[in-house]
Amino acid sequence: MPTTNHRRSTTAKPSTRIGYGFDSHEFRPGVPLKIGGITLQHDKGLGGHSDGDVLLHSITDALLGAVAAPDIGALFPPSDPKWKGADSVIFLREALKRVRSAGYAVANVDASLILAAPKIGPHAASIRTRVAELLGVPGDCVGLKAKTPEGLNLENAAVAHVVVLLEKAKSAGKAARKRR
Ligand SMILES: [Zn+2]
Repeated sequence: MPTTNHRRSTTAKPSTRIGYGFDSHEFRPGVPLKIGGITLQHDKGLGGHSDGDVLLHSITDALLGAVAAPDIGALFPPSDPKWKGADSVIFLREALKRVRSAGYAVANVDASLILAAPKIGPHAASIRTRVAELLGVPGDCVGLKAKTPEGLNLENAAVAHVVVLLEKAKSAGKAARKRR
């Protein structure tokens, strides 16, 4: 028979959960540059998995990690031709679905983008607005910092680090109380 402590630890849902995501892609000529769900004017884009949206991939992995779901590479294998050039919004939507079915909602997201060019400053507001819209949160719940890769020798890559905080969804809480 399980101990009381054991039972409590498996049934009580924490009120918040944190998630962390990391991603990097190499710049390639001849592909559009997608960052945070918008297309930026640049002479190169990001190659690799799907449309190479390094920011949406990191957010997706942060969301999946927060609910201990399999990561983006496991759910959408880069080796599967189905995902070649795919819109990364698809991955984000799947991660959000898993967050919701786990009974959570996004509280806020904070991201750091590291790339030498183009300058993100002029596009930061549009990226934040788009990401907020995709996540269904107010614009002031999306933080975005852009940095150049000082001393990292990463002139031809874009890197994104993301943390996300989830909180118990209000509707899920009510449903849980009713069931009791
Ligand atoms: Zn990626």
